[in-house]
Amino acid sequence: MNADAPLETSTLHDLHGRWPQAESVEDFQRNLAAVRDRIAAACRRVDRDPAGVRLLPVSKTKTEASIRLCYAAGCRLFGENKPQEAYRKWAAMADLPDLRWSVIGHLQTNKAKLVARCATEFQALDSLRVAEALERRLQAEGRGLDVLVQVNTSGEAAKYGLPPDELAPFLRKLPAFSALRVRGFMTLALLSAEAVRVRRCFRLLRRLRDRLRQDVPDGIVLDELSMGMSGDYEIAIEEGATIIRVGQAIFGARNTPDTHYWPGF
Ligand SMILES: *Cc1c(COP(=O)(O)O)cnc(C)c1O
Repeated sequence: MNADAPLETSTLHDLHGRWPQAESVEDFQRNLAAVRDRIAAACRRVDRDPAGVRLLPVSKTKTEASIRLCYAAGCRLFGENKPQEAYRKWAAMADLPDLRWSVIGHLQTNKAKLVARCATEFQALDSLRVAEALERRLQAEGRGLDVLVQVNTSGEAAKYGLPPDELAPFLRKLPAFSALRVRGFMTLALLSAEAVRVRRCFRLLRRLRDRLRQDVPDGIVLDELSMGMSGDYEIAIEEGATIIRVGQAIFGARNTPDTHYWPGF
């Protein structure tokens, strides 16, 4: 493809709430293969190596039985929005020793203990209070945690995440927390069918990363860009995503309304 041609990839938000349920290992294998094909196609459009995109299946609201099927289809790391739900599933599936959990939703300080105990990754760091609470709990557990800083790229007041202009001073404070291994940024784009507006959020996150990476504090790494979900991951990949968080396109639509997990919808 001509590198100068504009990318016209659409969102898949029209499928929101309508993705078919995966009910067998074969269903999961097929859904995973379909997502991986789309990842590969998006990478080709912008000349990227698909190995640079990590697919994180998001299992929120899904049952233990469903997650075990997805595990049987080869997945080992799952994303959960709520700390309590992640903790409950972690405890229930402790018989699978190589199963790992990534908490991708807002954390209140009184739940830091759950994340410190059950998660290997936390993608929604957005305040020093949470950093302090996690550090204390991780020290007590003798563990470390990979962390992404959540950024509000859509400017919506109800969205979690730091506003772009608060990122630099925030990053400068993070080396004090030795149990937190800062790896990059996470964002939720505008939930809009308008691809141009969605793309703008992803592009902003990448530009912020590229700029802040030039003067990054010691011990902080800004390699990861976690952006894109079932309805918009192809656009996110075109804009540089290294992690995409995909729920419905792998597991099927959720019964619980998104307002339960995302403020402002
Ligand atoms: C639920 C969720 C996702 C995945 O959304 P899908 O539409 O199911 O792909 C991604 N990121 C976060 C933070 C979520 O809570």
